[in-house]
Amino acid sequence: MSFKSLGLSESLVKAVSEQGYDTPTPIQSKAIPPVLEGKDVLASAQTGTGKTAGFTLPLLHTLSQTPPQRNRPIRALILTPTRELAAQVHQNVKDYSKYVDLRSTVIFGGVNQKSQVSTLRNGVDVLIATPGRLIDLNNQGLLSLSKVEILVLDEADRMLDMGFLRDIKKIMGLIPKQRQTLLFSATFSREIRKLANEFLKNPISVESTPENTTVEAIEQQVYRVAKEKKTDLLIKLITEGNWDQVLVFSRTKHGANKLAKKLEAAKIGAAAIHGNKSQGARTKALAGFKSGSVKVLVATDIASRGLDIPLLPHVVNFELPNISEDYVHRIGRTGRAGASGLAVSLVSADETVFLRDIEKLIGSKIPMDILEGFEPDPNASTKPFNPQQRGKKPRSSSNSRPSGNKPRTTRTNSSKSRR
Ligand code: AMP
Repeated sequence: MSFKSLGLSESLVKAVSEQGYDTPTPIQSKAIPPVLEGKDVLASAQTGTGKTAGFTLPLLHTLSQTPPQRNRPIRALILTPTRELAAQVHQNVKDYSKYVDLRSTVIFGGVNQKSQVSTLRNGVDVLIATPGRLIDLNNQGLLSLSKVEILVLDEADRMLDMGFLRDIKKIMGLIPKQRQTLLFSATFSREIRKLANEFLKNPISVESTPENTTVEAIEQQVYRVAKEKKTDLLIKLITEGNWDQVLVFSRTKHGANKLAKKLEAAKIGAAAIHGNKSQGARTKALAGFKSGSVKVLVATDIASRGLDIPLLPHVVNFELPNISEDYVHRIGRTGRAGASGLAVSLVSADETVFLRDIEKLIGSKIPMDILEGFEPDPNASTKPFNPQQRGKKPRSSSNSRPSGNKPRTTRTNSSKSRR
């Protein structure tokens, strides 16, 4: 299958091919045709599947079929939960619209609005925005959404998690009812379905490859360890395994900062990325990580969402997530474009319940090990650190086990406890 055979114009096919892509990913093959037909689409796809091009390409195709109006009203609006994702989607839109006469820009909070406003004044066809800044500029009368023809809600589940439901509803009220709506979400909770029922008309549902396929392709490893020894164990794994690009998940912003500092102190280039960091700091951390000057990026779930880092070799759960599905999202960052990855979880006694929930969700036991000198505390309580936060979202399961090479670590004899 080629992009051309999906019905995309020569100009778009050429731009995609310049990005190095000739074959559409499954989500692209499934989403592009109905979007080109003008249908509303409800797509189940997470980051790493090629979802951005899945909505961007047909959107640009549709808009480019009509000559641009002189005042360039906003004709397509793409809403994203985070600034990083907004910036990445904008980059994609710019790359793919190279050979069509369409202008785009991105607006998000945390930076001065001046340059955003002046770009908007010149007229843009495609606007990528986070909800807060969009409403802010609309309230100031600095933009109009009354001519929007296509609306995309990207990572809708994360937008709801971040409390954007009211903002989304407000934005819906500013856009014409007669429009095409595309909703992309990694998970389909009751809230997402409610949102889709309310705002999409007879949507076509499309799915990317089921997530458990991704899980199967990733080597997973649990290390049982005492809570206070986690940092030292992480340092050992990184140095002895010669890991040079690691995404580490931390449960809290404070924890992310603390860990990044400790890694730096151990001479491992590290940076933290989370909601309290300024836009400049986040961009710098991400750029350093991509270029290799930062070996370890310590991120919270929300900040990590939508980061476009292809072919990530190592992901570490410094703490297990209390929502099992987040585990699948986290480790999915190592399984991109068919490249194999290793997902390591450092599990202390109080995370036992979360591990059990995760194994239930993925339908298999994760290989477990204990390293000499990093044994778990036999007297530690197995009570979850915050039982109220334990979240469950049932999903389909898989019975197969991950396989592949183990990290270069020493094992104690008693540690061969594969369950
Ligand atoms: P996304 O899921 O949109 O975040 O995309 C994940 C990564 O896949 C990005 O680095 C894209 O540039 C890349 N990508 C998008 N389309 C394709 C394709 N057809 N083939 C290979 N990689 C792609």
